[in-house]
Amino acid sequence: MKKDLNIVWLKRDLRLQDHLPMQIAQKQEIPFIILYIYEPTLMEGPDVDIRHLRFIHHSIKEMNRYLENEGGSVHECYGEVEEVIDHIKEKHNISNIFSYEEHGTMRTWERDKRVKSYFMSNRITWKECSNPGVQRGIQDRDGWDRRWFKEMNKSIIDNQITNVGSIEISPKTSLPKEFKEALEEYPQGMQPAGTSYALSYLSSFMEERGKDFNKYISKPLHSRKSCSRLSPYLAWGNISSRQVYQKVRNHPNYQNHKRAFNSFLNRLKWRSHFIQKFEVECEYETRCINRGYESLQRSNSEIFLEKWKQGKTGFPLVDACMRCVKETGWINFRMRAMLVSFLCHHLDVDWRLGTYHLARQFLDYEPGIHYPQFQMQAGTTGTNTIRMYNPVKQSQDHDPEGIFIRNWIPEFSSIPSEFIHMPWEMSKMEQQLYGIALGKDYPHPIVDHQEAAALARDKIWGHRSDPVVKKESKRILKMHTRNKSM
Ligand SMILES: Cc1cc2nc3c(=O)[nH]c(=O)nc-3n(C[C@H](O)[C@H](O)[C@H](O)COP(=O)(O)OP(=O)(O)OC[C@H]3O[C@@H](n4cnc5c(N)ncnc54)[C@H](O)[C@@H]3O)c2cc1C
Repeated sequence: MKKDLNIVWLKRDLRLQDHLPMQIAQKQEIPFIILYIYEPTLMEGPDVDIRHLRFIHHSIKEMNRYLENEGGSVHECYGEVEEVIDHIKEKHNISNIFSYEEHGTMRTWERDKRVKSYFMSNRITWKECSNPGVQRGIQDRDGWDRRWFKEMNKSIIDNQITNVGSIEISPKTSLPKEFKEALEEYPQGMQPAGTSYALSYLSSFMEERGKDFNKYISKPLHSRKSCSRLSPYLAWGNISSRQVYQKVRNHPNYQNHKRAFNSFLNRLKWRSHFIQKFEVECEYETRCINRGYESLQRSNSEIFLEKWKQGKTGFPLVDACMRCVKETGWINFRMRAMLVSFLCHHLDVDWRLGTYHLARQFLDYEPGIHYPQFQMQAGTTGTNTIRMYNPVKQSQDHDPEGIFIRNWIPEFSSIPSEFIHMPWEMSKMEQQLYGIALGKDYPHPIVDHQEAAALARDKIWGHRSDPVVKKESKRILKMHTRNKSM
C-alpha cells in the first residue's frame, strides 16, 4: 500500500527558518519531504545563468548540512514538475504540496497555471502561501504600506523541523551527472551561497559596514563594503525580508546610525514595492511599462550592443562595471543605472536587447526588481524623471582616482589619474609613454558621448507629449502608486 506524503516545494525561498510552508507541513500528521526541482523549460529561459543554479545548489547543500541531523534532506530533482511528481506518485500517495507564491516571469506564471491544473486532476491539494510584503490579486495600493509594516513586525516563524522525511528519487528525475558536476563548481569571485552567509553578511553590516551606507552608496568601489550585499540572499530566499527588517530594527547599532539604517530599511521596502508592481503586471519583462514608448524608434546597433556586453565601449567606468559584474555578479545601484542609461540613451538600443544580459550577470537577479528598474533607467515608464548618466562625470565623481577602473581594466595600470576618465585625450606620445595604444590595447570610444546624449534627450523628452504616453502615465500612477494617507 502506498503511504501518504506531503511535499514542501521550494522555489525562491531556500531557507528553513521564517518559512511558512515548512511550518504548515511540520504541523501535519502526514510526513513530508522537501523538494527543489530544476525545470528544463525554465532553465532554458533567456534570463537564467549557471551562476544562479550554482547559488541554488550551494544554498541547498547548506540546508542539508542542518537537515541531515534530523535524518532528512532537500531532494534535488531534474525534470518538469509533472514528471517529477508522477515518479514520486508511483510509490507514494501525495496529499498536499506546500509552497510560497512565486512572483516571477511570464514563464513561471505559465508553469504555475499548468501545474495547478495537473495537481487538481491528480487530486493533490496545492497550498501557496503569500510572501510577507507582497500581495496577490490587489488592484491598487490602498493600505499597502500599512500592511507591509504589519507583515514585517509579525513574529519570525521558528521552525523546529523534526519530521522531515526522505524518499528514493527515480533515476529518471535525478540530476544528470554533468549537470551535477557543473553545479558543484562555485565561482571564486562571487558571494558564497546559504543562510549562514546571509546571517554573517547581515551581522557585519550592522556591526561595522553599514554606518557608511549613505556615504558610499554610489561609489563603485567602497559600496562593495558599505552596502549590505544581502541582495543574492534575499533574491534566493536564504533569508526573509522580515528576518532582515527585525534584525536591523532590534540591533543596538540601529540607534547609533539611524540615518544609515533607515535608508537601508527604505530600500528593503522598495524591494517589496517593485516586486508588487511586477506581481500585478509581469508583462513588464517584455513590453514597455508605458505602452506609449513602444512607438519610440531606436537604431539598435548590434555592434554597440556587443561592445556594451563585452565591456569594450571605450568608456572606462562603463567597461569596468561590465567586466566586474561578469566576474563577481554584483555592482551597486548607481552603476547598474548607468549601464542601462548608457545602453538605451547613448547607444540608442532598445532596453529589451540588454535586459537579459544583465539578468544573467546579476547573482541577485530578482525579476520583480530587475525589469521595472531596467525600464525606469531606460526612461520607458513615463512617470519617473528620466535620468541620463554622463559616463565621464560618473567616473570623475565616483572613482576620481580610477582605483575601481584599474582593478577591472588592467590595460590602464600605468595611466595617470588625469587620463583615466577620458583616455582618448592622451596624445600618441603620451600613449607610448604609458605603454598603451588606443584602438589596439583599449578601444576608442564608440560614440561621442555628449552628442549622443543630446540626441537621446531630444528624442526621449520629445516623446513624453505623445498622447498614448500621457494616457498610460495616468493608468500607471493609479495602479502602482501608494496612497500614503491610507
Ligand atoms: C537596472 C537595475 C537592475 C536591478 N536588478 C536587480 C535585481 O535583479 N535584483 C536585486 O536585488 N536588485 C536589483 N537592482 C536594485 C539594486 O541595484 C540592488 O538591489 C542593490 O544594488 C543590491 O545590493 P545590496 O544588497 O547591497 O543593497 P542595499 O543597498 O544594501 O539594499 C538592501 C536591499 O534592498 C533592496 N533594494 C536596494 N535597492 C533597491 C532598489 N533600487 N529597488 C528595489 N530594491 C532595492 C534589495 O533587495 C537589497 O538587497 C537593480 C537596479 C537597477 C538599476
